[in-house]
Amino acid sequence: MSEQRYRLRNPASGREVVLEAEPQEVYLDRETGQPLELVGKVLPLPPSRSRLPWAVANLRFCPWCDQLAQKDLNECPTCGRRMGPLAPPAPIR
Ligand SMILES: [Zn+2]
Repeated sequence: MSEQRYRLRNPASGREVVLEAEPQEVYLDRETGQPLELVGKVLPLPPSRSRLPWAVANLRFCPWCDQLAQKDLNECPTCGRRMGPLAPPAPIR
């Protein structure tokens, strides 16, 4: 079973949500009751060696293709190029 997720936006507030949605359905903002407009598909996760969840804190941009990749991968899952080491975190003083 593959639930396609979509980004939906409230045009009034600009708030975006990600939902498992059917594109032909109309979804309402839970808070304001306004209809949400479909912004785009959320791509399904490519098969990946990463064990990190697909969360902003665990992602970085590939320097080659500018797509998101999990930080624990050496090669970009999108273009397959080597992304190089991450800068080490700033030392805690
Ligand atoms: Zn890439």
